Amino acid sequence: MSQENILIAGGGIGGLVLALTLHQIGVPCTVFESVRELRPLGVGINLQPNAVRELENLGIGEAELDKVGIPAREWALVGLNGKEIYAEPRGKLAGYRWHQYAVHRGQFHLMLYRKVIERLGPDAVKLGHRITGYRKQEDGTVVALAELASGGTAEFAGSILFGADGIHSAVRAQMHPSQPPIQWGGTIMWRGTARGVPIRTGSSFIGLGTSRHRVVMYPISHPDADGLADINWIAEQTYDTDHDWTKSGWFRAVELSEFAHQFDGFVYDWLDLPALLAKSDVVYENPMIDRDPLPTWVDGPVALMGDAAHPMYPTGSNGASQAIVDARVIGRLMLDHGVSPAALQAFDDQLCQSIGSVAMRNRGAGPFGLLNMVEERCGGQFDNINDVIPAEERSAFMLAYQQAAGFAKDRLNLASRTIPEGATLGRAAA
Ligand SMILES: Cc1cc2nc3c(=O)[nH]c(=O)nc-3n(C[C@H](O)[C@H](O)[C@H](O)COP(=O)(O)OP(=O)(O)OC[C@H]3O[C@@H](n4cnc5c(N)ncnc54)[C@H](O)[C@@H]3O)c2cc1C
Repeated sequence: MSQENILIAGGGIGGLVLALTLHQIGVPCTVFESVRELRPLGVGINLQPNAVRELENLGIGEAELDKVGIPAREWALVGLNGKEIYAEPRGKLAGYRWHQYAVHRGQFHLMLYRKVIERLGPDAVKLGHRITGYRKQEDGTVVALAELASGGTAEFAGSILFGADGIHSAVRAQMHPSQPPIQWGGTIMWRGTARGVPIRTGSSFIGLGTSRHRVVMYPISHPDADGLADINWIAEQTYDTDHDWTKSGWFRAVELSEFAHQFDGFVYDWLDLPALLAKSDVVYENPMIDRDPLPTWVDGPVALMGDAAHPMYPTGSNGASQAIVDARVIGRLMLDHGVSPAALQAFDDQLCQSIGSVAMRNRGAGPFGLLNMVEERCGGQFDNINDVIPAEERSAFMLAYQQAAGFAKDRLNLASRTIPEGATLGRAAA
């Protein structure tokens, strides 16, 4: 049996940032990733300032992030009538010390992978290794069980195992065998990117429509000489949960003709959505799903992190950010408690309950809850939004979300580094 120190199941954004963090604090680790080859999969995701701060402290700064994305300047909600409901600046424009980045998920993921190989060496990520479960040893250590893409199985011993294996986590399934199935609230998302001219500030996140029928769009690249950028779009339709949907795949490529007609009405003097959708190369369909929060993410020497711990609806744009923050908090707690189950327990105590409630906020629409308020109060018909929801009430609603999700500006700007500069295990924190 191979002897490793820390074992990480899953080489997604969470698992790779955890590997970089452990390397930074001088703790050896190995990542086991089920796919044989990492490819630039996915479309747009947002990295909130709390995650951008952590990446910077890992030596991944603005110059690198600008290669895979663009600083977001604004978050705006617009009613189906085309009139603004709410808008606020984002990132440094809002007074944060860090940008919010809108990035291409696949390119960002591959950039992290290259960093891991560069810093930890080519053997740090074992591709084609699907972790199927674990066995706790009497001496307090753990053995991860792997199925190899090349055929056969293998076992890897370590002091700690992290399940960073996403929403369908095998580690989580073993830790919580009676967990309820995946939860789907009736929303289907169609996602893609298309070349287009960025609107509003040139880097605005725009949510447009109603709570059950809307589109989200934002650029994920800097504009070229012709002013065109990659525009990430997500068209969403909510059905009753008994909707006759084939559920033939959780993330499948589809033709525009299967759904785009539902968005034919999204034409304004500042946006022609059907024309934008028509320019898309590949379109994916996937349901908006999550899981119920868990009472604990820890089982002795085994802990869950990222989507394996807290899969969330993307309504708050913070799934990837929270996976990054999880990794950094784990690193910090290992500095405080050593590479030990005590560090895992401290991680659980610090985040399990609070992030479970963020996930539930996202299930309840997250910041898009403003759309529900508009519909309840005026059925979506308004001339001036101030007559429906006063400005202070809209701002207070958004602030409450940001505080819960850990990226409220004042608190974040004043917070000390999660991992003190130069701190490694065995060397005192600065
Ligand atoms: C292919 C893909 C495309 C995505 N596209 C988008 C998108 O367009 N927009 C968006 O908002 N979010 C997207 N997401 C989700 C988003 O990346 C995550 O919500 C967020 O980054 C948290 O990351 P994570 O590392 O915790 O989980 P994930 O990103 O899900 O990563 C989990 C990793 O573990 C691997 N894995 C799974 N099971 C095992 C196992 N048993 N053993 C070993 N490895 C395993 C997976 O291959 C994956 O690399 C995507 C996720 C994936 C996997």
